[in-house]
Amino acid sequence: MNQCDHCQNELSDRRVYLDRNVQVFCYSNEGELVQAQALYSDSLKHFCSVGCADVSVPEVMDSLGLSILPPTTNPVGTCAKCNGPVDMTAPHVAYVLMEATKVTKPWLTHLEVHNDEYLCVVCPNCDGQLMQEEWQIADEDEAALSDVASARGKETA
Ligand SMILES: [Zn+2]
Ligand SMILES: [Zn+2]
Repeated sequence: MNQCDHCQNELSDRRVYLDRNVQVFCYSNEGELVQAQALYSDSLKHFCSVGCADVSVPEVMDSLGLSILPPTTNPVGTCAKCNGPVDMTAPHVAYVLMEATKVTKPWLTHLEVHNDEYLCVVCPNCDGQLMQEEWQIADEDEAALSDVASARGKETA
């Protein structure tokens, strides 16, 4: 996928991603949001610029039957599909627009994030059937990462 999903231009390393994330929010005892943890992330679309994303994203969200809602840091969000409550402290699906540059190193590729914009959250009733599988993928990713870490540890030892 090396073309903008809107204008078909060739994508550079800096691009805009429309991501579907499984995430969980952590709160302090005072109820302040302290951490938003992404368990799993899947890029649905890639755009060459914020301009292309701005034109295309509302159409994509519309085709998914989701409305774009103002961001919230409350422990209970509003589902973009059914308007029901979303428990933010449990794993749930969120759609995010992210502008990032792909940094490729010989041993890994990572994204340097410049900007991310929350679009909406979806309750497990409307989008929950993949949750279990995604948990497993997230676990496997972590296992793979620690394998790499220990392999690198051995190299340097
Ligand atoms: Zn474009
Ligand atoms: Zn819902």
